Amino acid sequence: MEPKLNHHRDSRACCSSRLRETHATCTGQTPWSIASARRIAGALVFFASALLNGCNNGVPTPPPVEKPSDEARATALLDPLVALPPRPEVVALADAVAIASSRAGHNEKGAALASLAAALRTRAYRVYHAEADAREALELHAAAASAAAGTNVGCEADRQRALLAGELVADASVTYRELYLASRRQAILAPRTTCHAAIEKALALVGAFRPRGDAMTALEREGDLSAAGATKGATAPSAFAPSTAGSALTNAAPAPTPPTARAPGDEGQVVVSPKDEAVAKGPVKIVSVEPFGNDKGGRVVINLTGTTTFHVGTLAADASAGKDARVFVDIDRATSRGVKKEMEVGGVVRRVRLGAQEKGTRVVLDLAASLYRRVFYLPDPFRIVIDVSTRPPLRQEAPSSNGQREVRRVVIDPGHGGQDSGAIGPTGLTEKSVTLDIAHRVATIVSRELGIETLLTRDDDTYVPLDLRTARANAFHADLFVSIHCNASESGTARGPMTFSLDRVRNPDRLTLNIAERENAARPAKPGKEHDTQAIDEEMALIVSNLDVGDLLERSRHVADLVQRAAIASLGQRWPDTKDQGTKSAGFFVLVGADMPAVLFETSFISNPEDESRLATADYRQKLADSVANAIRAYREGK
Ligand SMILES: [Zn+2]
Repeated sequence: MEPKLNHHRDSRACCSSRLRETHATCTGQTPWSIASARRIAGALVFFASALLNGCNNGVPTPPPVEKPSDEARATALLDPLVALPPRPEVVALADAVAIASSRAGHNEKGAALASLAAALRTRAYRVYHAEADAREALELHAAAASAAAGTNVGCEADRQRALLAGELVADASVTYRELYLASRRQAILAPRTTCHAAIEKALALVGAFRPRGDAMTALEREGDLSAAGATKGATAPSAFAPSTAGSALTNAAPAPTPPTARAPGDEGQVVVSPKDEAVAKGPVKIVSVEPFGNDKGGRVVINLTGTTTFHVGTLAADASAGKDARVFVDIDRATSRGVKKEMEVGGVVRRVRLGAQEKGTRVVLDLAASLYRRVFYLPDPFRIVIDVSTRPPLRQEAPSSNGQREVRRVVIDPGHGGQDSGAIGPTGLTEKSVTLDIAHRVATIVSRELGIETLLTRDDDTYVPLDLRTARANAFHADLFVSIHCNASESGTARGPMTFSLDRVRNPDRLTLNIAERENAARPAKPGKEHDTQAIDEEMALIVSNLDVGDLLERSRHVADLVQRAAIASLGQRWPDTKDQGTKSAGFFVLVGADMPAVLFETSFISNPEDESRLATADYRQKLADSVANAIRAYREGK
């Protein structure tokens, strides 16, 4: 494991300029971490015949230059059994192939090279988790889809792009959306191809994430436009680019299960049936069972080799028989050879047990009490998620008679930590150190002055996976969740505080996209552990999109407003030049799955020299901490 994670911004800034300048600067300064076997196994690559348009900008097109050695090396590295060299080396090779593609011109050769570069970047992303690689792969795929439009090969590039777009944000509703648009385009461009059939099949697999109501109507309209563009032969890469930011939530998806939260004691049984065409015909294997539990909640993820139907049931405790309350999932046609049959978990989940049945495998959670539960499946790779809690996941706000809101517990989340430094300022100030210090200051005020119980998601310079931060907030039964960060912009000129709440973004600006990319970039990095948390990470988006989150998003937006206003009031007195960046919405992993109003506070731009110098002072940090505490107070007072 490489402990020195440079900030993600560096690699992206460098790589986005690559197309105009040179690829050489792209290497040697980007983050990398340990490979995840599962991600590698999931890699599917296609060599499309397409063209990379972007690299021609400002460069006289030379005669086609064959670079068989780069090609051969790149192709060899797509073999999942071949170890990937350090990321800078992979990026340099992918860049060389991309540039060769651009030189080869608008023809099949150039297209094949673009797709090869995309495939290599995709593998690099899955191994090293640098989002810059996925972003680059998306662009390369779009270029390939454009240049090879009308062929199976161009269609494949479009399909790969759609799948990667969803993978990048770990949100199946984004996968659905992108596959849907690709399907509409390819129905015109490459109908009756095996690729178009594959898109339809993939779309069916994520059918549970189809938006409902107005959101689907809007998507259909977008599909009409996309198809119309394809009819007219519009094959600019932008026609294949994702039309919105990937993000979790809101209108996404009716749940595959009926009401996902059940009152304790409910013994209803639910049959969950993914679409027929997606269900594996043969047996599927349980690959692993990942349990997590504490005294207020728990989560168990069951990973399988293929899609299958399953049934969910609950059983009340039976004291006379000495049996705990149980949640069980009967997984049809599943075998569990090689997987531990009994696991002690802890907290409300006493243990997880697996047992063979006539038709498959039953997974049982022995619970310390009757709990609220929600069960979902996540496609590709298929997995079943069982979430249990001592409180219902959706609670309506109930202001008391004097207009006050009940705020008994608050979770303060200092962004980043450990090997994930977050953004780094011009003089080397790290986001992780600033956020931890501010969080400590917030906790002190909130607990001492407001008398509110406060939990920090991390108390020192350690790495905490994003999913675990929210899970801790849920298990703490927090009434508010405030994640503290420092902002960064590529130019370094942007300044001032900005506050986010979680939402699907309709028309995100570039800055918002960059911030979301950056804050979502933190990835588990413990050797051998990363894929576990990755699975839970991805599942977070699913939980929220599958749940009726009620007015939680609205309440989060309100809290974001309070934090932002408090920050401007608190900083403005002392630093009148403080720029108010306002509140925005975006899809942040760390906010997904929170059972309470949750916001992400970008205190200031650490990438700006003046903001950085202020962030380095105790004075400025204290004022920022005051802002958060003031916002919490205002929220409690019913403001
Ligand atoms: Zn951050």
